[in-house]
Amino acid sequence: MNYTNPTDSNYRNDDVFDNTLEEAIKKYQKFYKLKVTGILDPQTVTLMLQPRCGVADLFLTNNSNIKNAASFLYNYKYAFSGYSWPPNKRNLTISFPTGTRKDAYAPVEFALTRWGNVSPFKFTYIDNFDLSEVKISFERRDHGDGYPFDGPYGILAHSFFPSDGRLHFDGDENWTTYDEKGNFDLQTVALHELGHILGLAHSQDPKALMFAYIGRGETKDITPDDIQGIKSLYPNN
Ligand SMILES: [Zn+2]
Ligand SMILES: [Zn+2]
Repeated sequence: MNYTNPTDSNYRNDDVFDNTLEEAIKKYQKFYKLKVTGILDPQTVTLMLQPRCGVADLFLTNNSNIKNAASFLYNYKYAFSGYSWPPNKRNLTISFPTGTRKDAYAPVEFALTRWGNVSPFKFTYIDNFDLSEVKISFERRDHGDGYPFDGPYGILAHSFFPSDGRLHFDGDENWTTYDEKGNFDLQTVALHELGHILGLAHSQDPKALMFAYIGRGETKDITPDDIQGIKSLYPNN
């Protein structure tokens, strides 16, 4: 029998149900307002199996940095990632690699305009992908950043907090760019991922754009929770 060293990085893939896993389940249940049982009960498993963004939920509670008086008063649920663009970066360049599906451009452009309306950021499209500050691409399975995609469903997209700029859609999803039930709305997911690109983490408000889960055919726009979040993250400009 193999001895498992808890400090071994393989240990996290171990399926032994230990205290660490129980604590993780409790944090997850608390974050998503489920009954905190510490076990994988049906309600928890059902939520865990829903399609979602691959960016990890930050289980921050009582973090004074992410809560101000207004957020208590209005019950805002937005959260910060702990990262933001430096003050001299308010005009960001955007690019897709050559060969990107052409129907992705319009939904992403719409999403950029929406964020531009509620934040100090402006976005300029450039052709040179490598030189661009925000790099948007469709990737499949293991694509070299340490966060492999999982084929259809499950994880739909992920992106990196400032000032990394990488935004990846799972190329194996059945993306839709028009009103079509049953598939995933590229514009909605682009809006969500750009929230991470600007520095927002996942909101606990199920109605918020920055909520981690999205249903098939579901469409969302930026909500008051998200607007309050981005305005609090970049308050002085
Ligand atoms: Zn996300
Ligand atoms: Zn990736």
